[in-house]
Amino acid sequence: MLDHLSFTAPQPKVIAGARGDWELVIGLEVHAQVASKAKLFSGASTEFGAEPNSNVAFVDAAMPGMLPVINEFCVAQAVRTGLGLKAAINLVSAFDRKNYFYPDLPQGYQISQLYHPIVGEGEVIVDMGPGVARRVRIERIHLEQDAGKSIHDMDPNMSFVDLNRTGVALMEIVSRPDIRGPEEAAAYVSKLRQIMRYLGTCDGNMQNGNLRADVNVSVCPPGAYERYQETQDFSHLGTRCEIKNMNSLRFIQAAIEYEARRQIGILEDGGKVVQETRLYDPDKGETRSMRSKEEAHDYRYFPDPDLLPLEIEQAWVDGIAGNMPELPDEKKARFVQDLGLSEYDAGVLTAEVENADFFEAVAAGRDGKMAANWVINELFGRLNKEGLTVATSPVSAPQLGGVIDLIAGGEISGKIAKELFEILWLEGGDPAEIVESRGMKQVTDLGAIEKAVDEIIAANPAQVEKAKANPKLAGWFVGQVLKATGGKANPAAVNELVAKKLGG
Ligand code: ADP
Ligand code: MG
Repeated sequence: MLDHLSFTAPQPKVIAGARGDWELVIGLEVHAQVASKAKLFSGASTEFGAEPNSNVAFVDAAMPGMLPVINEFCVAQAVRTGLGLKAAINLVSAFDRKNYFYPDLPQGYQISQLYHPIVGEGEVIVDMGPGVARRVRIERIHLEQDAGKSIHDMDPNMSFVDLNRTGVALMEIVSRPDIRGPEEAAAYVSKLRQIMRYLGTCDGNMQNGNLRADVNVSVCPPGAYERYQETQDFSHLGTRCEIKNMNSLRFIQAAIEYEARRQIGILEDGGKVVQETRLYDPDKGETRSMRSKEEAHDYRYFPDPDLLPLEIEQAWVDGIAGNMPELPDEKKARFVQDLGLSEYDAGVLTAEVENADFFEAVAAGRDGKMAANWVINELFGRLNKEGLTVATSPVSAPQLGGVIDLIAGGEISGKIAKELFEILWLEGGDPAEIVESRGMKQVTDLGAIEKAVDEIIAANPAQVEKAKANPKLAGWFVGQVLKATGGKANPAAVNELVAKKLGG
């Protein structure tokens, strides 16, 4: 399906140590909150920012005898995400209990899918600039519950627990260690977020904790990663550390950078990297040890006896597959191939699906490049400046399309079109009517243009002599005529007339 995408892989990030070069190897576990009104195993609302403990069903609070009931919509969202990542969908998956104690986890365990995840192997193409991309393999996606929130900073003597988030559905998307630098890690998370926003399966709001990543980092000498790729034998790679719970693209990059240098320092001093979980401190710009890596059996994983294995039918999956939107890679390729846009412009226009839809409405039946130019340079430029989005844009797609039609039809010049855009932005209205009623139409009446040319020539005899000797100076007359006509004279006609008069 992605055969139409040809690209070269970027070089891995190389860090020069005191005793030679080192390369980075990174694998991410991304926790994406499923876009769903209700939780994974209860009907309680998932609304963000609600009154603490107001969205808690009995089963979320682990009241005795309460049983989880799977939310079909959340399962469909995970399948949809899997299909969006070109991944295998497992028709049979199962839920396990991951046992641990925490005050914000009333059940005493988290329901997750360790042994039989719902989604298997897939891939993400991570764009690193025109013609350059990294293919990152996805190992699995499993469904699991989120925990509640402990609040330690509201009272000097007490901690509080808010269970609103308890039981909200998460998708844990696990990548293979195919990411080779901090920028790639950030680009990978943005690409996942972009795909899930297109799919409508995760809002991807990192500030709200909607999307967070555990970042696994190791370093190795050049050549080691290639040996891992050939054999899939992890012993060729260095020991990794996992940096937990990162919810900012900037911090992900800074943490990887810091962590890689820390590991290189240890290795070059003859030490060993200890596999452990670390936390990033954004104030200090450092990672620090949180706990040594727990072994999986510490959690006493076992199949949740309250939940039967989850069996879905191929026909149901096919139904979801038949309803997929066009995804960013395909849309971008289509904009390049069918509309003749540059890869860069296509990338800008497809970054958010709302922007792509707006652009397509403007471009429909019009010149694609011209539409892209107007949408990116005039509209997006202005929206950014004023902190607006296409959803809140004062100029609609039909209005912008109208402006383009007037230019394409030779009725207004590019300069007047910008004035027209300004009027639409501030006052609204119909572009064609505004041009008509305010006399903004381009003058193509040759008689009128000729009169203006004659006047300028008559008023500037010295300039005429110079221009006759040096035809390059004719441009000055063209400029004067356009100025005299308020930018409304058709530039091509002015050019032609000026050349004729000066030449003859
Ligand atoms: P766990 O569940 O214990 O964290 P996994 O085997 O599921 O362990 O791996 C978690 C993540 O660590 C995956 O994203 C994987 O790609 C990544 N990973 C594994 N080995 C390395 C390594 N040597 N360097 C960097 N990342 C790694
Ligand atoms: Mg992990």
